[in-house]
This record gives sequence, C-alpha cells and structure tokens, in this order.
Amino acid sequence: DPGLYIVATPIGNLGDLSPRAADILRRADVIAVEDSRVTAGLLRHIGTKTPMVPYHDHSAEGVRPALIARMATQAVALVSDAGTPLISDPGFKLVRDARAAGHLVVTIPGPCAAVAALTLAGLPTDRFLFVGFLPSKMHARAEAIAEVATIRATLVMYESGPRLGACLAALAEGLGDREAAVTREISKKFEEAVTGTLSTLAARYADAPPRGEIVIVVAPPGEAPPASAEDGDAALIEALTRLS
Ligand code: SAM
Repeated sequence: DPGLYIVATPIGNLGDLSPRAADILRRADVIAVEDSRVTAGLLRHIGTKTPMVPYHDHSAEGVRPALIARMATQAVALVSDAGTPLISDPGFKLVRDARAAGHLVVTIPGPCAAVAALTLAGLPTDRFLFVGFLPSKMHARAEAIAEVATIRATLVMYESGPRLGACLAALAEGLGDREAAVTREISKKFEEAVTGTLSTLAARYADAPPRGEIVIVVAPPGEAPPASAEDGDAALIEALTRLS
C-alpha cells in the first residue's frame, strides 16, 4: 500500500534485520536514507536494488514535500544508518508531515541501541529517560546533566569513545556517584557491558578511550535519606507499630 514505512535496521549484527523489514525494503518504491553508501551495503545483503534518496530533517526545502507527495501513490521506506529511525536520527518531521497529509504511516520495529543497552545494564527498567547525545561542550553538558539530576528514572544516553571519560566524570559530578553501565558494540563481536559507579568508570576510561559505539546507562537517584534523625526514628516506630 502507498504510504510511509519506518524500518529499523541492525545496529551491528545483520542477522537482526527482521524478515518483515527485508520484505518492505525489497518492495518499497523508494527508500529515504541517511547515507546511501551505508544502506547500499544492507540492500546488497538482502539482494535488492530498491532506489534510494537522501533524507535529513534539515534536507533542502523541497526534498520533504516531494517525498510526502510520492506517498500518495508509492510506498516510501525510511531507514537510518543503523537502528531505529527518529531515535537520535532523522525522520521526525517526515512522520509529522506524512500524518498531516493523511498518509498511511507504518512502523517496522527492530534494533535500538538505547533499549538494547537497558537490557544489558542490570539497572532498573521500569522508568527510564532517553537523553540522546549530551552536548559535547563542558558548560552545556553540565547544564544538561543538572536538568535531569532529580528525575527518578534510569538515564540512557549515547556517547562516543573519545568523549566517554570526560562525560562519565561530568555525570559523577552532576548526579552523584551512582551505579552505571557502559555498554559497547552491542550485537557485534566485542559486545560488552562494564558496570560500576560513575567515578570508577570515569577513572577506568579517563586515559583509555574505548573503540566503537557506546551507550551509557545510569541508575536513578537513591532513596532520599530521612530529612532528620527524628523523622527517621518516627518512620522506624511507625513501621514497627505496623508489624506488631
Ligand atoms: N537510531 C539509532 C538507534 O536506534 O539506536 C541510534 C543512532 S545514533 C546517531 C548512534 C549512536 O547510537 C552511537 O553513537 C552509539 O551511542 C549508539 N549505538 C549505535 N549502535 C550501537 C551499538 N551497536 N552498540 C552500542 N551503541 C550503539
């Protein structure tokens, strides 16, 4: 059917491309891509030559309207270089405009580094905040960290190897020394998750920036200690009363 198909692609292991994703990529009239060289490799892997057009949310005026117009009669697939489109990747404006035009919008769910990292970290998953990439400049980064410091949820963020040490140190400074996990190269040969407090992780990576792609997962703030010793005693007495 004509419309927009948002297709998740592997974040490392090509075996993670779903049969449904492969089917849509073969049958689409056109695929909107971040980088045609990257997607060409994937298309070769599934033996198809579906035409590609470059797309970014900030693409030249005219690119998006042209794609939206095509959706009236054609199946337009959207992929990013890896993982789920729109998640720290282009696509939000394309989906918004496709909806506004009344076109069919279908998602083909699949790999997403943020969710995969959560499954590896061994930290609470009932509430999490996806922070995307923190700013790389020191001051802006500290501000962004301060903004989320009191949120009672596990934090998930993307980072690059060279910036990892400085980022972990800034997190320890701004959030307190929480438990965290550095997950790396998910679904690839050297997949790993290194856990520890933010300060131990910062020390570990300070002079040894790791290779590859990284997701940082940070535990929620700990239970707030009682406001005063008396409050603590009152809480204890109340608990004991309930037990008896
Ligand atoms: N849309 C993608 C997704 O669904 O995960 C994310 C795109 S974002 C531009 C790329 C970032 O995702 C990388 O810098 C890294 O932080 C993270 N990432 C992507 N693949 C990864 C992998 N295999 N292992 C760990 N992190 C990965």
